[in-house]
Amino acid sequence: MREHGWWHVSAVTCHRREDSCGRADVACAYVCRSFRIGRHVVKALVYTHGHGVRFDEAPEPLPADGVVVDVVRAGICGTDLGAVRRGAPPLRSPVVVGHELVGTRTDTGEAVVANPILSCRDCVPCRRGDEHLCVRRQVLGVHRDGAFATRIAIPGQNLFPLGPAVGVTQAVLVEPLATALHAWRRVAPHKGARVGIIGAGAIGLCTLVAALGNGAAEVDVADIDPLKLDHARRIGAEATATELGGGYHVVFDTVGGTATRESAVTSLLPGGTAVLVGLHEPELRLQGSAVVAAERSILGSFAYRRADFADAVAMASTLDTDWVCVLPMEAGPGLLNGTRPAPPGASKIQLSINE
Ligand SMILES: [Zn+2]
Ligand SMILES: [Zn+2]
Repeated sequence: MREHGWWHVSAVTCHRREDSCGRADVACAYVCRSFRIGRHVVKALVYTHGHGVRFDEAPEPLPADGVVVDVVRAGICGTDLGAVRRGAPPLRSPVVVGHELVGTRTDTGEAVVANPILSCRDCVPCRRGDEHLCVRRQVLGVHRDGAFATRIAIPGQNLFPLGPAVGVTQAVLVEPLATALHAWRRVAPHKGARVGIIGAGAIGLCTLVAALGNGAAEVDVADIDPLKLDHARRIGAEATATELGGGYHVVFDTVGGTATRESAVTSLLPGGTAVLVGLHEPELRLQGSAVVAAERSILGSFAYRRADFADAVAMASTLDTDWVCVLPMEAGPGLLNGTRPAPPGASKIQLSINE
């Protein structure tokens, strides 16, 4: 029986699932329990260990879990790809993946975006305002059911209302824009700084927007994909190439490969600062002299503070979105598992869910 885009699943379906699993593992028990008690389910992209992501069903989120939001659209992020394909960060199993979303509150009808980081508000980092560094941090789509579902429950304090000027595509970019704003603020380069950015994905392009909006004199962007570099040039990058030149005050590595981290440091002026944002590979390998003898600094940047997120909401309506590709939710499993290639030149893919 289908109603309002989600289903009530019969005991027959439940039984088949238990049989197909053959053992009471967490995934089966989790899904089947909700079916047994006759709970409604939502359409979702569900990750389970050993199976990757499947287009499936998940228990309906309840108001007891937070404000219930009908997801309109959600973005695929490098974090999702790393988690699904390489186990970094490790995902709960099963879990609905995804953490970049725009949706509609079911209680008020208001359009909202969500800060996907849930914090305890009590530990040392939380109390000094670094809630994104909470020692008990939980992230939607990693530790709790996330954005690639027709419905999601989110604590009310994590929701930010959207003004009418913000488009759907722009709204889903609030999360990567917040990441870029935070990375920029980690250094707050002086006006007139020469800035290098490695990677022309969503974080790289949003960092470019942050740099141009904050008085950087010249911003160069490097990427191996010439189509993505076209986006960077259109937004205002000075020079674009497969590798950065040199002589930068600040370089942002939004890729996080072993080679890109090294390049971020070695392309700096003496005394410059490399900001490491991407997390593609675990290793950081450097010649010590590149840091010590030139007094270069290396900073990590992770996610965003609450204020960064709020500022990204306010800026979202100014974002160029020509570099975003929107695909149906059904394309999600292939894209996330790596069996379906990303469309050429897409610096960000968003999945259409309730549109
Ligand atoms: Zn993200
Ligand atoms: Zn905390």
